[in-house]
Amino acid sequence: MKDEGQNCFGAIKNTMTSLTPVIFNINWNACIRCGACVAVCPQDAGFISPFDTIAIDRPCDIACLVCERVCPVSAIGSEKFKVQSVK
Ligand code: SF4
Ligand code: SF4
Repeated sequence: MKDEGQNCFGAIKNTMTSLTPVIFNINWNACIRCGACVAVCPQDAGFISPFDTIAIDRPCDIACLVCERVCPVSAIGSEKFKVQSVK
């Protein structure tokens, strides 16, 4: 039974690793609300910031980072989403 649980967790962990989702860190003071990040995003972001611009409150599984590259004021930063271990 214990092995099944470990195998299940391993499968989930491997799946999430293969997706390499990212989380965003937006410099809202720099954002000029041009909307470019939303315009280039290939998915329905699902979350809209207080300024109706970009998804930031959940990991992005696609992680193409086109939004980050297109931002004219470099307001978008990102890092790999880390799954915290559960004890
Ligand atoms: S990384 Fe790609 S898919 Fe994710 S929010 Fe940015 S543009 Fe959209
Ligand atoms: S592309 Fe940059 S400046 Fe334009 S709305 Fe998005 S975060 Fe703001």
